[in-house]
Amino acid sequence: MNLLIMGLPGAGKGTQAEFIVKNYGVNHISTGDMFRAAMKNETEMGKLAKSFIDKGELVPDEVTNGIVKERLAQDDIKASGFLLDGYPRTIDQAHALDTMLEELGIKLDAVVNIVVNPDILVDRLSGRYICRNCGATYHKIFNPTKVEGVCDVCGSHDLYQRADDVPETVKNRLDVNIKESAPIIEHYTELGLVKNIEGEQEISQVTEDIKIALTKNLK
Ligand code: ADP
Ligand code: AMP
Repeated sequence: MNLLIMGLPGAGKGTQAEFIVKNYGVNHISTGDMFRAAMKNETEMGKLAKSFIDKGELVPDEVTNGIVKERLAQDDIKASGFLLDGYPRTIDQAHALDTMLEELGIKLDAVVNIVVNPDILVDRLSGRYICRNCGATYHKIFNPTKVEGVCDVCGSHDLYQRADDVPETVKNRLDVNIKESAPIIEHYTELGLVKNIEGEQEISQVTEDIKIALTKNLK
């Protein structure tokens, strides 16, 4: 299956991606994770990305399209499909993705759109913490680890808060993403691909709704 997962920052894309990847065996492609890896390795691209990410702005389309194009061309994508998380984030990226998929002979099956009211997202993002070892995502109130400070999935004690999850940056990230996302959803709605999911429910119920929405895409 070839899927996109969309939603504003904090809507729950990464949280639900963990389930989708496990359940459907698709490759998780998160542009945010790719940029964070490049920043950690201090590559030229990582340094460039950091200058935008630190301000809550989008990394320029040509850079982002380039890393996605390279990843989609790898063999495991045709073999087991993908879940793109955090891309496309501009209408130009959506058009670039259409072209990439056409060139590769790949068809999109569905766009999972997690819908939440932006008002709740500052609390979601400022309470988020992540396992540095396996990437599992938690929330200090809404989804805490079973044992404080220990990842439920891999047992690591290395949990951290993202540098861009501070209130000043979050506000700009939300403004930018609200502005850019409407035409993208419109584009995929016209193609009949969008599955809107009510994202303010319990995490497990959101997962259940995604499962139901994707049932008819299973071959
Ligand atoms: P995104 O990948 O869309 O930015 P995340 O999946 O990282 O969002 O979720 C943002 C924060 O909100 C995390 O701390 C996560 O644990 C929490 N969260 C995710 N889904 C829900 C939900 N349905 N209800 C409450 N909190 C949630
Ligand atoms: P995320 O992990 O998806 O919240 O992304 C973290 C940050 O990486 C974003 O705030 C952007 O600065 C950058 N980023 C991730 N995906 C994209 C994208 N598709 N286009 C531009 N910038 C992106």
